[in-house]
Amino acid sequence: MGALNTFPVSLKVQNRRIVIVGGGDEALNKARLAVKTSADVVIVTRAVEVDFSGLPVTLIARAFDVLDLEGAAMVFVADHGPDGAAAKIAARQAGVPLNVVDVPHECDFFTPAIIDRAPLSIAISSEGDAPVLARLVRAKIEALLSPNLGPLAKLAGSLRERVSAILPEGPRRRRYYEELVTSPAVESALDLGVSDAWREAVGLLDRHAAADDEAGIVWLIGAGPGAEDLLTLRAQRLLQQADVIVHDQLVPDAVVEMGRRDAERVKVGKAKGHHSFTQAQINALLVRLAREGKKVARLKSGDPMIFGRAGEEIAALRKADIAYAIVPGITSALAAAADSATPVTLRKVASGFVVATAHGADNAELQHWVTLARQGITLGLYMGKSIAADIAGKLIKAGLEANTPVGVVVNAGRADKQLYAGSLEDLRLDTFELVEGPAIILIGEAVSRGDWADAVPLVEQQVRVA
Ligand code: SAH
Repeated sequence: MGALNTFPVSLKVQNRRIVIVGGGDEALNKARLAVKTSADVVIVTRAVEVDFSGLPVTLIARAFDVLDLEGAAMVFVADHGPDGAAAKIAARQAGVPLNVVDVPHECDFFTPAIIDRAPLSIAISSEGDAPVLARLVRAKIEALLSPNLGPLAKLAGSLRERVSAILPEGPRRRRYYEELVTSPAVESALDLGVSDAWREAVGLLDRHAAADDEAGIVWLIGAGPGAEDLLTLRAQRLLQQADVIVHDQLVPDAVVEMGRRDAERVKVGKAKGHHSFTQAQINALLVRLAREGKKVARLKSGDPMIFGRAGEEIAALRKADIAYAIVPGITSALAAAADSATPVTLRKVASGFVVATAHGADNAELQHWVTLARQGITLGLYMGKSIAADIAGKLIKAGLEANTPVGVVVNAGRADKQLYAGSLEDLRLDTFELVEGPAIILIGEAVSRGDWADAVPLVEQQVRVA
């Protein structure tokens, strides 16, 4: 991704002039844009070739004069003769921002494609590279936006002082505005007229003022295995509402970025070997933020309820009497199943699916898994990558057949996923090299029914499973 060479701003032009030098179609196009503003639009040309009469512009039919730029906020040069040349020099001397139509390298600024819902505007710019693309994007956005947005923005503007007097700055005020601009009641009142809408908006304000809205909430949100589009719609919506996003190391930046731009973000570490926050500190942080009245998105990889320490966090929230809600996510074992097309339960082959953590498993647990696996239960092991060989050896020792099919998915659910297939014995031999990243180990007959065709063999002498 390259850097922008222009910086989008909204330039004040009220009570100033926008000067257009030229009298042809190009000048007319710029005039049409300029008259969307309240600026004085002045056209200077010796050759009026098109009809400007339908536009609220001042037409000065003479040669360009340096004085024409007095008080100008910007100047467009759409004249290829001496007037244009003179205007360019004058603009540069006076420091008036200059746009030379269709000559990007001479321009100080470009005109974006504009969506006009005054006072709201959306500008789409391609820095002069692809105006057609910019217009296509504009058409799409136009179709999305209600024509009432302008009046709605005006309404919000006219309520500002009142809102400031009643609601304290911060989350409560922001929530009011959020509801104001998305309220169907306000939208339909706008159709009736400004005063109806005003009444509706003030009613809403009173309700917000009366509501005991100080209490925060914590949403424990599953971010899924990593790809942004494996997030649920609910997770995405709540991320947009959150004042603070508290996230684990494993949650990719792209997902964390989906929150509001001004939301505070706290990375609480917990990647293997980097415990920058203890669990107790995280619990305390969640409680403190919610007590401050904040909406907190506690973003965890996969599903929050599976090896996500959700239990401790929920207990802390309940103890502190703080509202919470849980938003499920796609857990990595199921992402691994999807990546390898492995039906982890399968009629006559696998009657169940167990997720377990390999980390810290003792002999009794291992024995238990072996019993389950031998009865046709597929195992999905988390947190076992670095001890995979050891675990495999112990499972074999505890009675699981060495040729039991095994699959490993590293970076499941992500673009850089990597599949490995073989047998339990292969896993024990530990001669393969797994790429960097979190991994799920699937064990059981069902693995052999998956599609691991492109998988990297665990070892050369792998048992064919496809
Ligand atoms: N709550 C998470 C699990 C967190 S524990 C979930 O539901 O997925 C961390 C372990 O999850 C890692 O050691 C690894 O085993 C697994 N894991 C997390 N993301 C993964 C991914 N994208 N691919 C494979 N395994 C993953």
